Amino acid sequence: MTAPEGGQAALRRAARRARRLDARDPLAPFLGRFAPVPDGRLFLDSSSLGRLPAATPELLDRVVRGDWGDRLAQGRAPWRDLPQRIGDRTAKAVLGALPGEVVAADCTSVNLYKLTVAALEARRGRRTVVVDDDNSPTDRYVVAGVAAEHERALRTVHTHPETGLDMETLRAAVDEDVAVVVLSLVSHRSGALLDMAEVHGIAHAQGALVLWDLSHAVGAVDLQLAATGADMAVAATYKHLMAGPGCPALLYVRRDLQPYAAQPVHGWYGHREQLAGAVPYDPDPSVRRFLTGTPPALSLAAAEPALDLLAEAGMAAVRAKSRALTGFLTELAGAALEPYGLRPAGPADPERRGAHVAYRHPRAGELVAALAGAGLFVDHVPPDRVRLSPGPLSTRFADVLEAVRRFREVLSGSDPAGVAGGTGEWGV
Ligand SMILES: *Cc1c(COP(=O)(O)O)cnc(C)c1O
Repeated sequence: MTAPEGGQAALRRAARRARRLDARDPLAPFLGRFAPVPDGRLFLDSSSLGRLPAATPELLDRVVRGDWGDRLAQGRAPWRDLPQRIGDRTAKAVLGALPGEVVAADCTSVNLYKLTVAALEARRGRRTVVVDDDNSPTDRYVVAGVAAEHERALRTVHTHPETGLDMETLRAAVDEDVAVVVLSLVSHRSGALLDMAEVHGIAHAQGALVLWDLSHAVGAVDLQLAATGADMAVAATYKHLMAGPGCPALLYVRRDLQPYAAQPVHGWYGHREQLAGAVPYDPDPSVRRFLTGTPPALSLAAAEPALDLLAEAGMAAVRAKSRALTGFLTELAGAALEPYGLRPAGPADPERRGAHVAYRHPRAGELVAALAGAGLFVDHVPPDRVRLSPGPLSTRFADVLEAVRRFREVLSGSDPAGVAGGTGEWGV
C-alpha cells in the first residue's frame, strides 16, 4: 500500500499520538496480565468474548485437580455457595450493588425469563410489558414468550438503530398499566448507552419496574445500581466481564423487592431449606430464591481472575480508558476508513456509547471474514454492521492504530472503486 505524502504524514502523527497515549495510560500495567496472543493477532471483539486473563488457566487447573479431584467428592463445601460468592464479588467490583442482591446462575436468557415473570408477580394487576425493537433477539423472544404465557400485552417501542432510544418515545409508552420495562443499557447493535437514572425516572413515575439487560455494559461501564435505584437486571459474563464462554450469567434484584419477586423455575437450590427436601416448595427469602439447580462450578470459577483485574483497576478508570480507546478509534476511522464507504452507525459522542463502535458496510459479512484473514478479529452483526470493541484492560492505543491500518488495507484491496475519491486525510 502506498499512500501519498499527506497520508504518510497523517499516519506518522497518529503513531506518535498512540505512543503518547500508551505512555500515559494508568492501566497499562494490566496489559501483561492477559494470556499472550499468537501471531500478532488483534482482537477487537471483546463485546462478544472478553480476553483470557493469564491467571485463568492455572486457576481452572487447580479447581479441577484440587476441588474436584481431591475434595469435591467428599463434600460440596467449596462450590455450594459459589453463585452467591461470585454474585457478591460482582456486585461490589462492577455493579455498584449491595451484598445479597446478585447471584450468578443459568444463562442470560433464562435469568431474563425468571425476572420478567418475577416483575409481573411484583406488579400484579398491571397488564402491559414494554420492550424495544432494538434489543437482542433472544431478549425479545423471552419477553414476548412471557407476555403470551401470562396473557399480558406486549408494547414494543421503536429505538433509533443508530442513536438509541429517545426518552420522549419511552415516556409516551409508559403508563399506569405497565408492569415492567425491559431494555438493554448498551445497545448490542449501535452501542448507544442509555441514562439509567433517566429511564428509572420515567418508569418509576408510573409505578412500573425496569428490568435491565447489562450484557454489553458490565465490565466496561461504571455501573451504580444501588445509587440509581435499579430494580432488576441480568447480564452475560463472557463479554467485557471476561469470565469465559459458558460462565453463568448475573441476576440482580434490589433487596427490598426480593420478597415480592417470585421466580417461576422452582428447584431445590432456591428452597428455604435446600437440603431438607420439605414439600411443598418454599422459596428462600434471600436472593437465593432466584437459583434453581446445581451451579456449574467449573465455569463459575473462571469469573474470579477477571473480577480480580476489574476490582484492582476500578470501574471508573476502566470506563475512562474505554472511552479514550473508542474515541481514538472513531477519530482514526473517520480519516482512514470512512472514505472507503464504512459508515458510522452509532452515537458520535463517547459519553453516549458503551465499549463498542458500530459501522455499516453493504458487504459487512465478507468484510469481517477478510479482516480475520488479516489477523483482525471483529464482530459481524447481521445484516450490515461491523462492531469493533477494544477490551479496556487488554488493548493498547497502538493496537487500535494497527487495527485501523489493517482494516484500511482490507477495504482498499476489496473495494478498489472506493479509492477513486482520493479525499481522506490518509490519502485514500
Ligand atoms: C450476550 C447477550 C445475551 C446472551 O444470552 P445468553 O442466554 O447468555 O446466551 C443476551 N442478551 C443480550 C442483550 C446480550 O448482549
